Amino acid sequence: LQTTTIFDIPFSSMTMEETIIYITKQLHDRQDVFHIVTANPEIVMYTKRNLRFKTAVKKADLITPDGVGLIKASKLLGKPIAERVTGFDMMNNWFTHLSEQETNVSVFLLGARQHVAEKAGRTITAKYPNIKLAGCHHGYFKKEDTVQIVEQIQKAKPDILLVALGFPRQEFFIQTYKDQLQVKVAVGVGGSFDVWAG
Ligand code: UDP
Repeated sequence: LQTTTIFDIPFSSMTMEETIIYITKQLHDRQDVFHIVTANPEIVMYTKRNLRFKTAVKKADLITPDGVGLIKASKLLGKPIAERVTGFDMMNNWFTHLSEQETNVSVFLLGARQHVAEKAGRTITAKYPNIKLAGCHHGYFKKEDTVQIVEQIQKAKPDILLVALGFPRQEFFIQTYKDQLQVKVAVGVGGSFDVWAG
């Protein structure tokens, strides 16, 4: 994995296409959870202020650069990052790729309001026939409900878990529960459910 370190964060320097091929391989080969952080400028700045968050981000298996400033900085450092990779674009490109490969994959959507998560799920499954919805849960839950949500994801056994709780909560959620979740890939996707729900 080629990386460029900026603000002490090792960003992937792969193109979108290389990223899709790489994460597809993880989906097929992986035994434990492969955690992807799509790091936008707000996330990067927050790692500078919050060490616990920075540690969680650095534990991720792939950190994609979601900001043009990061691309510019990488060029100045002489270790150019190929292009910006946002969570929303990466997921859509990945779903397209998986559909073209005729690979059946299930996803669980955790986050946003219940009707938003459900509508996002319907958009994804309508657009990408090979993607199946393993389940949905809204993101406005109390701390004491977390155990039940983790159990729901365990039972649903999705291949991919999309977590849209906003940062830093989505990254902390994935890092805290990844060993209990039997998913192959977990991604924090910020406001993506709202975009899919339209
Ligand atoms: N969200 C949530 N629970 C919360 C706060 C936010 O599920 O307690 C959802 C919100 O509905 C939205 C997503 O998290 O769909 C991302 O929120 P935001 O755009 O504020 O986060 P960012 O993109 O900055 O990470």
